[in-house]
Amino acid sequence: MKETLSTLTAVQKFDDRLMVLRRRLESLPVELGEQETRYSVLEAEAEKHLVERKRALSWAQSLENDVRDWEARVEKLEQQIRILRDAGAAQVARHEAEQHRGEIAKAEEKAIVLLEKAEKLAESAVEAKEGLAPELEELELFRKTVVADEVELQEEIAFLQNCRDTLFQKAHRSGRDLYEKLMPSRKGRPVTSLRGDSCGGCGMSVAPNDRIKVAKMASIATCRSCSRILVQEEVWDSVREETSVEGPRA
Ligand SMILES: [Zn+2]
Repeated sequence: MKETLSTLTAVQKFDDRLMVLRRRLESLPVELGEQETRYSVLEAEAEKHLVERKRALSWAQSLENDVRDWEARVEKLEQQIRILRDAGAAQVARHEAEQHRGEIAKAEEKAIVLLEKAEKLAESAVEAKEGLAPELEELELFRKTVVADEVELQEEIAFLQNCRDTLFQKAHRSGRDLYEKLMPSRKGRPVTSLRGDSCGGCGMSVAPNDRIKVAKMASIATCRSCSRILVQEEVWDSVREETSVEGPRA
């Protein structure tokens, strides 16, 4: 049973490593998604300059249309003033023409301000777009790195899984069954070491006769509190050293 105990300890080391690698593999698309969102925000900010520019230009255009209408009206009023005999009516027409002239001056002034603003916004849009180029480059590079990392991680996982499965088959049937049964509830840690008088998994003290069972390694000893398979600290440490030097990085 000693062989089975050290085998299961080694299998757990592989499972630890596999869990870390799988988590990293799962996190890669999430990280890429975050980078893509960040870029989209920058792109939308750059786009905003152009949207504002368009709005300023269309406002200026609408003011220019108003000016044209008012100018036409003023011209008509001036013609009327020339032919009107009624001094009062001529005075009213003159007053209206004067009002339109004031509106024309204001609208022209405003249109100039808007056109200047549009010009500045066009410059800002060009600047923002230039600023985006290195960001896009960085995003593309990150995307390539993610793809390469995914391939590498998948290969490493497949290799380690194969090593782990081969090793697992070497353990005694009863040990394999217990390991698999405990695996989900013990969060991938069905094996632990006896630390002094206590269980390395849950910290509860282990009864003397159980400690003797652990030391003898003739059968599988488990913690009465957390049910984990208990192994001697020497077995635990030697397996940890072995597996960290050989393949799976800790
Ligand atoms: Zn325990």
